[in-house]
Amino acid sequence: MFPFILTDEQKKLRDEARALSNWVPKEMILDMDAEKIQFPKEYLVEAGKRNLLGIRLPKKYGGRGLGWVENAIVAEEVGVCSYSLACLWGVGADIVCDAIVSFGSEELKQEIVVPLLKGEVYAAEGLTEPRGGSDFFGATTRAKKDGTDWIINGQKRFIVGAEGADWFLVYAVTNPDGPAHRRLTAFMVPRSEGVETRYIYGLMGVRGGGAGRLILTDVRVPDRYIVGTLNNGVEVFMRMMIPERLGTAAMTVGAVRPAIEIATNYTARRKAFGQFINRFQAVGFKVADSVMRLDAARALVYATCLAIDTGKASPGQVRRMISESKKFVTETAWDIANDCMQVMGGIGYTDIYPLERIVRDIRLSMIWVGTNEVMQLIIQTEWYKEFLKKTADEPESRNVEADARNADETEEKVFE
Ligand SMILES: Cc1cc2nc3c(=O)[nH]c(=O)nc-3n(C[C@H](O)[C@H](O)[C@H](O)COP(=O)(O)OP(=O)(O)OC[C@H]3O[C@@H](n4cnc5c(N)ncnc54)[C@H](O)[C@@H]3O)c2cc1C
Repeated sequence: MFPFILTDEQKKLRDEARALSNWVPKEMILDMDAEKIQFPKEYLVEAGKRNLLGIRLPKKYGGRGLGWVENAIVAEEVGVCSYSLACLWGVGADIVCDAIVSFGSEELKQEIVVPLLKGEVYAAEGLTEPRGGSDFFGATTRAKKDGTDWIINGQKRFIVGAEGADWFLVYAVTNPDGPAHRRLTAFMVPRSEGVETRYIYGLMGVRGGGAGRLILTDVRVPDRYIVGTLNNGVEVFMRMMIPERLGTAAMTVGAVRPAIEIATNYTARRKAFGQFINRFQAVGFKVADSVMRLDAARALVYATCLAIDTGKASPGQVRRMISESKKFVTETAWDIANDCMQVMGGIGYTDIYPLERIVRDIRLSMIWVGTNEVMQLIIQTEWYKEFLKKTADEPESRNVEADARNADETEEKVFE
């Protein structure tokens, strides 16, 4: 944490989120990892009671009307306890409800957001299909109009919370012959006739969160369950990617923090060759680098949150920074978790310490909510656009390119 930059209100919020993580019974975490629990509804109920679901959303729907920085503070603390719980905490309240609040009708807000933020119901998000997740706009789930209803057929997979969900935000093709970005519509689909979920994946980590397959067979939903406008799912998708990726970054900071704390405690007490092992630079430097990298990762998350909260960054800059946060934090967290395991020797690889679970859990973060390769694509696209479009609102910085001895040898500057 960076307590010195937090206001008193933010510290109080952090402490509330910490209290929620401290509330979680150890058995819940172990039973989820052992897949004895497939959907820990009690956790969402407890988070709802404490008003810690959807804290960015307006108070009138049960949120707290706070900003992205506050969300990152809470997400970090939620992530400390369990990556699976953090995923569930984020998907329903922070991602799906954000989409409904941004694009849904008042009726949908009352029907879904209000009970969801109390922890009474849960909504999963169905983007990924068996045929592909990165190629989201190539989705094949189909919705056909029938009077004032829509009939949906298709399959989604790897859906967090599918087992316990009462609602699913699903993208379906409504305009098959349209251009890629005008083919899809976002629907809220209630668990109803034709909706089937299967808990079939043996996951490496992030277990117990109900990640499953969603099968939709002739599911009838009324027009009013459309989120946003017809054939404009792209708008909802672009919005959802903000909490998905920034939320993942923030909770991953929290998820890896205990690895450093455990490794620090252990290496300050463990002795080898008559010395505390943290005095060996091979050990102490790994912990030092871990602390440094975590601080850098968190700083990027906070800077990205401020980019949105202040409204001063362009949409392209925000997209770039969110992708940077997601990629940098998740890869940094993976390195940290592995280094922390390494400095503990053999015991770090056992279930005497939870490091092995932290390593397994964190691996997902580089894959889901858009793989890190997809993040690179976005960073690449946005950076070139942003840099090559010179903005007039700042004085030009020094043209260092001209500071080479032979910079004027223009015939040597060959580009094709
Ligand atoms: C435990 C778990 C929980 C999940 N939860 C959800 C959820 O709740 N809801 C949901 O909708 N989805 C969820 N997902 C799905 C996740 O977001 C996708 O798995 C992910 O986006 C990748 O899609 P894919 O698996 O189809 O891989 P693919 O898209 O097939 O990608 C395979 C590989 O190709 C690379 N690749 C693909 N296209 C490009 C490109 N253009 N340039 C460079 N590289 C490329 C990818 O980076 C990857 O390395 C979850 C996944 C897991 C494992």
